[in-house]
Amino acid sequence: MANYLKRPNGTEDVTPAQIHKWHTVEQVVRQTAESFGFSEMRIPTFETTELFQRSVGETTDVVQKEMYSVIAKETQFTLRPEGTAGTIRAMLQNGMLAEALPQKVYYILSCFRHERPQAGRLREFHQFGIEMAGSQSPYADAEVILTARTVLNTLGLKDIVLNLNSIGCPACRAKYQEALKAYFEPHRDALCETCQERLVRNPMRLLDCKSAEDQAIAKDAPVILDYLCEECKEHFEAVKSALTEMGIEYVVNPRIVRGLDYYTKTVFEFITTSIGAQGTVCAGGRYDGLIEQLGGQHIPALGFGMGLERLILTMEKQGLSFMEPSVCNVYLAPMDDSARPAALKFANALREMGVRAEFDLLGRTFKAQMKYANKIAAKYLVVLGSNELEQGTGKLKNMQNGEQKEIRLDSAEHFTADYTEISLSEMLGSSAE
Ligand code: ATP
Ligand code: MG
Repeated sequence: MANYLKRPNGTEDVTPAQIHKWHTVEQVVRQTAESFGFSEMRIPTFETTELFQRSVGETTDVVQKEMYSVIAKETQFTLRPEGTAGTIRAMLQNGMLAEALPQKVYYILSCFRHERPQAGRLREFHQFGIEMAGSQSPYADAEVILTARTVLNTLGLKDIVLNLNSIGCPACRAKYQEALKAYFEPHRDALCETCQERLVRNPMRLLDCKSAEDQAIAKDAPVILDYLCEECKEHFEAVKSALTEMGIEYVVNPRIVRGLDYYTKTVFEFITTSIGAQGTVCAGGRYDGLIEQLGGQHIPALGFGMGLERLILTMEKQGLSFMEPSVCNVYLAPMDDSARPAALKFANALREMGVRAEFDLLGRTFKAQMKYANKIAAKYLVVLGSNELEQGTGKLKNMQNGEQKEIRLDSAEHFTADYTEISLSEMLGSSAE
């Protein structure tokens, strides 16, 4: 196949046969975020490169190795590798942080990172994320975590463990970085090349290394929790109590340091063992210094990003059900050309009611139309013959059970039963795949 006919490595197509999975996840994340009081925000696909350098951080893998950047008319831009930087930038630019706090927004967007593609690791992937700006309260941490937990529970996911940690503030972290440096220094030559550099510039990044040798060395490294200052320690204790009050289970995992530089205090990941090595479906935490770092006031903030491909992959692996794929509800089949205008009129009446109605656009014979209706798995067929049309009627066939009855074409009421709003739980429970 010619190269231009292949999608780029690490990208995916979503065909109509798969789209219901995305609709399921998107509907649940929207509904959950709105119910927690978050409003949707949309931001550009690219920003200035400097925005990510200043927020995500110069010493992170994302900024050092994974960004897709272009120079256009002398300005350097980057396809967003994550959603937080752009969202905070947009909140500042639109004056949202000068309004009543907390500001609470969510987004569903594509992210771009030049990584080695593998299951659950793509170069273009999608995130659902939330950002809350303005609250220092440990209850805000718990509420953000609960929002993620609710999404996972509503989708029916099992065996996803909340891993929790605190990485302190710049004050306590400085001491911790020193301790890490002292610990890793004797192992310098055994570390991977990237980590040798990390040792100099940002030793905490060492704990995030994916190499098995480096992880083995890091096993006995000092843990941040022993270095937290009084304020950070108190905050972490309060977050844990709030989680317990809310009935959210967690494990404290001092190895969670997060791949981006802007985090402070609480960090967390929801991790599953269902999909192999890339098991983090959701990651987030607090970034109290980020807004100030980008030129705003000192406003604490927090949030998370959830990888939608990993979420869908986990649902598939766990055999969970998705909402029913949208199929043709009513296929109109005129028996001959004289019945075509009636088919068109009736189809439009149905569409106005929100019914997915189709009719033959290829001038097929009646028999070929029946075959096509079967192939596209239409739920109902309406046969329009000239005799019936004279009386303003048609023959309705239920394609699932073969039942037939005569209906009047001046009323579309026969179909409404299938199109009334059904509750989310019914919808999710109603069909597999
Ligand atoms: P990882 O450790 O897996 O590289 P990360 O720390 O780089 O993740 P974040 O920047 O925190 O990830 O992104 C939040 C979430 O987005 C991740 O938990 C994951 O679900 C998803 N994600 C991140 N990178 C990718 C990717 N390349 N492909 C698919 N999903 C991704
Ligand atoms: Mg990564």
